[in-house]
Amino acid sequence: LTATNEVENYPGFDEVISGFELMDKMQSHALKMGAVLIDDIITDVDFSKSPLVLMGDNGDEYHVDAVIIATGAKARWLEIESEAKYKGRGISACATCDGFFFKNKEVAVIGGGSKALEEAMHLANICSKVNLIHRRDEFRGEKVLQEKVMQNPKITIHYDSVVDEFLGQENPTKLNAIRLKNVKNGSLNEIKVDGAFVAIGSTPNTSVFKGHIELDENGFIKTEGKRTLTNVKGVFSAGDVQDPIYCQAIVAAGSGCMSALDVQEYLMHLK
Ligand code: NAP
Repeated sequence: LTATNEVENYPGFDEVISGFELMDKMQSHALKMGAVLIDDIITDVDFSKSPLVLMGDNGDEYHVDAVIIATGAKARWLEIESEAKYKGRGISACATCDGFFFKNKEVAVIGGGSKALEEAMHLANICSKVNLIHRRDEFRGEKVLQEKVMQNPKITIHYDSVVDEFLGQENPTKLNAIRLKNVKNGSLNEIKVDGAFVAIGSTPNTSVFKGHIELDENGFIKTEGKRTLTNVKGVFSAGDVQDPIYCQAIVAAGSGCMSALDVQEYLMHLK
C-alpha cells in the first residue's frame, strides 16, 4: 500500500490520501494503543515448538504464544524495462485503486485471469475505451466474466498479444501508448492509451513459511473457513497473504481485526 500514490477507496478518507500516509496513520494508531514495534526480518520459523519460535535477521529469536502472519502479497509485473519507467505514471496494478484517474480516457488491461476480466469490466464503467491484452486466444478467468467482457461494447480484446514496449512522453514522464506484439505472426501494432493495468496475478510473501504451515497451490496461506486460524495452533493469518480474491486494503484491515479477535480468544483458553 505504501507504493500506492493515492488511495481513494478507503472508508473514512473522502479526501484522497497517499498509501504511505494511510500506513503511517495506522502505525501511529497501533503504537498509541500499546503495540510495540520491532524492525526485523523473519528469516526462519519453528512452529513445532510451544512457544512458537521466530528467527530474526539480526540473530534475535522471538518466542511467542501466538503469531499473526500478515506479510501481504506482491503484484506480479511484466518485468520489462519500459514498465518500470511508467509505473505510477500511467501504469498501475490496481484498477479499483487507480481507475478513477482515467475517467473518460482510453486504457489497457494486461492479463487473462478473473482479475483482468473484472478490472476490464470495472474500467469500462469509468473509461471511454478498454483494451484487454491477453497472450493467448483463450481466457483463464471465469466463464461468466468472459461472457460479460465479450458483450461489453467498450472493451476491445487483443488476443495472442503481449506488450512489446510501453511508450510515452518526457517532462512530465507519462504513458501514452503501448506497442503490442502478436505472438503468432510477430506483427507489431501501436495502441493509444493513457493508462495500463497489469493484472497477471500476485505472489504471496510466504517463502519463509513453506513447509511450516499449509499453503494453497499458489502459495497463499490456508485459513479455516471464515476464521483466520491456520492449520498450526497459535498461528493466524490476515490480509492479502491469505486472500487471493479481494486484495483490498479495507478487506485486509478487516481480516486483521478478525485475527486479533481470534488470537484474543485463543490466548484466553491457553493454559
Ligand atoms: P491468474 O488466474 O493466475 O491469471 C493470471 C493471468 O495473467 C493469466 O491469464 C496468465 O496468462 C496471465 N499472465 C501471467 N503472466 C503473464 C505474463 N508474464 N505476461 C502476460 N500475461 C501473463 O491470476 P488472477 O486473475 O489475479 O487471479 C488470481 C486468483 O484469484 C485466481 O484463483 C482467480 O480465480 C481468483 N480471482 C477470482 C475472482 C472472482 O472469483 N471473481 C476475481 C479475481 C481473482 P495464461 O492464462 O496464458 O497463463
